[in-house]
Amino acid sequence: MEMEVTALVGKAYYEITLDDIAGWWILGGRCACCGHQGPFNRARLDKRAQNRLLRFASRFLICTRCRNKQHNRIYIAGKMPR
Ligand SMILES: [Zn+2]
Repeated sequence: MEMEVTALVGKAYYEITLDDIAGWWILGGRCACCGHQGPFNRARLDKRAQNRLLRFASRFLICTRCRNKQHNRIYIAGKMPR
């Protein structure tokens, strides 16, 4: 089950932070150029980001298909099994 973070959180993308998204959601990254989707390592962002806004996470999102790193977005890829 895939969904947009804006639909999950109910805020505009630019104001959403990692803290708005519970830990059981699995995050993915989507390329703004070619639409390629891939897994996104939340723990890595947690550790390395200076702030927790998703819009600044694009610097950690590089498309593995076309190498684009501009305006890529995080989406909800699914839920952790329990
Ligand atoms: Zn791409």
